[in-house]
Order: sequence, then C-alpha cells, then structure tokens
Amino acid sequence: MTTSPTGASTGLGATFHTSPYKTVRDPLPSWDRAQPATWPATTCTLVSGEREAVLVDGLVTEAESLALTDWVVRSGKRLTRVYVTHGHGDHFLGLGATLAAFPGADLVCLPQVAPEAVRQAAPGGRAVWESIFPGQLPAELVAPEPFDGELQVEGRPLHVVDVGRSDTTPTTVVHVPDADLVLSGDVAYDGIHPYLATADAAGRREWLAALDALERLGARRVVTGHRDPGAPDEDAARVLDQTRRYLVDYDEAVAASDSAAELIDRVVARYGHLGNPYTLHMSAAGAFPAASGA
Ligand SMILES: [Zn+2]
Repeated sequence: MTTSPTGASTGLGATFHTSPYKTVRDPLPSWDRAQPATWPATTCTLVSGEREAVLVDGLVTEAESLALTDWVVRSGKRLTRVYVTHGHGDHFLGLGATLAAFPGADLVCLPQVAPEAVRQAAPGGRAVWESIFPGQLPAELVAPEPFDGELQVEGRPLHVVDVGRSDTTPTTVVHVPDADLVLSGDVAYDGIHPYLATADAAGRREWLAALDALERLGARRVVTGHRDPGAPDEDAARVLDQTRRYLVDYDEAVAASDSAAELIDRVVARYGHLGNPYTLHMSAAGAFPAASGA
C-alpha cells in the first residue's frame, strides 16, 4: 500500500509468502529414489489496505499453515476473507489455523470451484493427501464456501475471473488493479514444472486459452501459485511466456514420445532447470497411464 502525505490510502499493496519444496511420501515407481520427490513450492498472497487484508490461497500441511498464519498475524492487518483460486487442496486444506486466528474472516471460492474443493476436504480426499504427507495434515481440514465473487479490501476492488481449465477445471485468477498484479493460482507457473497430469491435448489448448484470458487483464505483474523461491521478478510477460512455451513444447514432446520415460527425457532436455521435476513425472504418468510404472 502507498500512503499519501495526508495519510489517505491511495490503493492496495500485495505481499507474498512462499512455502518451500517439501518431500512427498511414496513417489511414482518411475522416480529415481536417489533424490527426494518433492511437492512444488507454493505461494500465498496478502492483499492489504491500511488496516485490513484479504489472503489469496493457503497451504496444506499443519506446519506450513501455522507459519503462514504467523506471517499474516505479523502483517498487523485484520484479515477479513480468504479467497481460494481453485479446487486443489494444497492451496487451502490447512487454513483452519488462519481462520482461528481471525474469527471474523471467512473462506470463499466461486460456486463452480466449491464441489472439487469440498471433495478434497472429505474423507476420500484426506486419504489421498495423507498418503502424500503422512502425519503432517492438521486434524481438521477446511474447504471454501461459495460466495458471490465480490472481493474487496477497504472498498478497493479485487476482480475474480474464471478463466476455465488449466491444471484443473475451473480455475480462477485474481486481478488487483491497484497493484498492477494478477494472482494466477495454477493458471501460470514460475520456474516450476506445470502439473499436466489431467491435461490432454484438448485440455492443453484450453489451458493456453486461459493464459490468453489472463494476459488480457493487462497487468504488469503476475505472481503464480507455484513459484520457485528464486524467481527473479514478477514480470507478466516473462511468466506468461514461460508457461505458454512449456505447454507448446510439452504438447510436441507427448506427440513425439511412446512412453512416459521418453516424454520425461524430452522435456528435461529443454526444461531441466525448472523446479520440482517430480511434477513432470506425475504429468508423464497422466500422459502414458499404462506405462507409468515403466
Ligand atoms: Zn497447485
């Protein structure tokens, strides 16, 4: 936030909290056990006015959710709401601690995002997350409730936009005009392999269209839900370009490959520098389900 010399608020500011890569249990058979398989680093954003704030997305394990809560408390702002961009539980299941620290805050998503989010918090979803992070989940998982999409901080708008399919469907982004910023959730990735396990060729085309929709918002900065902690900046052109190029190259690599292993080799040849190679193994297992154990 910037404050004019008279003390009047001139807009909203944004601060970012990134939870680092974390080890996952029981990786796919294709994974080389010589190094730990990891979950991608995950970013949450606090959009703040003078006194109040809205948090966009949370985390999943108890320890990282407590660290996130501490970070929000230390901001000194009163949290009024937490907005969840999409239905993947790694972005909200652990938010109970944050909501307990701010009893006035609610946890919301667009109505079309709610069904998947609720499934991930239900016993079946919990079992899946427990298998990835055994003994690390909070006792109670939470899920967002549908709301009308009107998001604001101290009367200043945050625009919620459903951009359709990306790494799940639907996925949404948050445009903060005051900060010239879009919070992309999982629509764009920054320095990390995108999760393509559920995106077939048609899905990848829809994902590219979602990136176009994000770009049309015209913000100079994009901060992604999975962002390498060493990401150099928030430059929208760089981030969108990188995600777009990866999707196009991945598409070509799938077409040219006969197995998950071959696909992984092709993608690593070009994108070996990206974070969380385990995501690529999950994607390749989705592209070649029968060969995922090969
Ligand atoms: Zn995610």
